[in-house]
Amino acid sequence: MEFQLPEELQMLQQTLRRYVDAEMIPHERETLVDGDLKPEWRAHFQEGMKKLGLWMMDVPEEFGGSGLSLLAKTVVWQELGRTVALPAREDGIAGPTVRHILFQLEGEMREKYLMPALRGERRACFAQTEPDAGSDPASMRTTAVRDGDHYIINGVKRFITGAGKADFMQLMAATDRAKGAHGGISCFIVDMDTPGVKLTAQYETMMGDKPWEIVLDNVRVPASHLVGGEGKGFGLAQKWISAGRVKHGARALGVAERSLELSVSYAQQRVTFGKALAERQGIQWQIADMWMNLDAATLLVRRAASMIDEGQEARVEGFHAKYFADEMAFNAIDRCMQIHGGIGLTTDLPIERMWRQQRSYRITEGASEVMRSVIARHVMKAYS
Ligand SMILES: Cc1cc2nc3c(=O)[nH]c(=O)nc-3n(C[C@H](O)[C@H](O)[C@H](O)COP(=O)(O)OP(=O)(O)OC[C@H]3O[C@@H](n4cnc5c(N)ncnc54)[C@H](O)[C@@H]3O)c2cc1C
Repeated sequence: MEFQLPEELQMLQQTLRRYVDAEMIPHERETLVDGDLKPEWRAHFQEGMKKLGLWMMDVPEEFGGSGLSLLAKTVVWQELGRTVALPAREDGIAGPTVRHILFQLEGEMREKYLMPALRGERRACFAQTEPDAGSDPASMRTTAVRDGDHYIINGVKRFITGAGKADFMQLMAATDRAKGAHGGISCFIVDMDTPGVKLTAQYETMMGDKPWEIVLDNVRVPASHLVGGEGKGFGLAQKWISAGRVKHGARALGVAERSLELSVSYAQQRVTFGKALAERQGIQWQIADMWMNLDAATLLVRRAASMIDEGQEARVEGFHAKYFADEMAFNAIDRCMQIHGGIGLTTDLPIERMWRQQRSYRITEGASEVMRSVIARHVMKAYS
């Protein structure tokens, strides 16, 4: 493994940094409405991503994607992580948000769901979490029962991002509750206008995201809408799951880097008791810790990305990168807020929004405790 990014990725990083500094950071207070990107800013950033050659960067090459390596993508996510001009989730600036499950579709289903999603004509949401099943999705209660050439689906999904604007959902449901994670969970494509699908509540969150609750009441779905076969729901995601964790880790690097930029700048200007904060050992040590932890997290993220690029599974490395980087970045933005004193709490600076966003990543898409449990199982096996 190389400890330095290859030259072309260093150049990509510099170009993107200039773009974020010029086009995003100065407009951080203008780009969002109700936690979502304003259409004019989405169009502006999409144009920028196209010019930078990053359009469709998360789409496999065979479907028109850019073919960037995961390591290259970590550079992009890291640089975009430096700004709060983008919403915490689902910004869609590098192309429509398409979950990898959809790339499994074939024939008519591919034409009806994947291709329009890639063209930005139809939107999808992903519905797995339930009121009683978040970190432990295998215990989900939503069931899909075969009835001739259909499945009948009943249950409640909670915290579903983008459900209000979605045309269809990628729904996880139990086809055999007794089997749970071991072949009992299946994935279905369900049109949002299918009779029995109801959006029953929308949650306000501290990050501005507004996920939905969906009730499924005797929803009849054609058997052809089952993706990848019965019981294959969790298996479908496996191939991309480690890459998803690396993405989280990479974005967190950007948060920590911005925390350092803001902290150092403020500590050098702010004078208390006759000296700049930057001259105080108590502040210097905090900044040193922030930098060392960022450095360590950068190596973890790049190691996991390089391993996946080489075709390795990197499961534990992916968990390690996400856990360490997400916790490290929250710590960094929290210290940054503390160093800024009262002004750090105001909406005049980007710190409070970055703090709220980063706080949320320690819970969603793999809570920190769950990451640690998986790592602990690995360590105990390795040392027993
Ligand atoms: C803004 C937002 C958007 C979301 N978008 C989506 C979406 O689009 N689609 C979707 O399906 N879901 C979505 N979610 C759901 C999200 O993924 C879950 O909230 C997350 O997985 C945690 O589940 P939970 O909230 O049920 O917490 P729980 O699983 O109940 O966990 C509660 C706490 O207990 C800890 N914990 C759990 N198990 C253990 C254990 N074994 N040992 C120690 N500690 C443990 C957790 O780490 C956590 O701190 C979203 C959530 C939010 C807030």
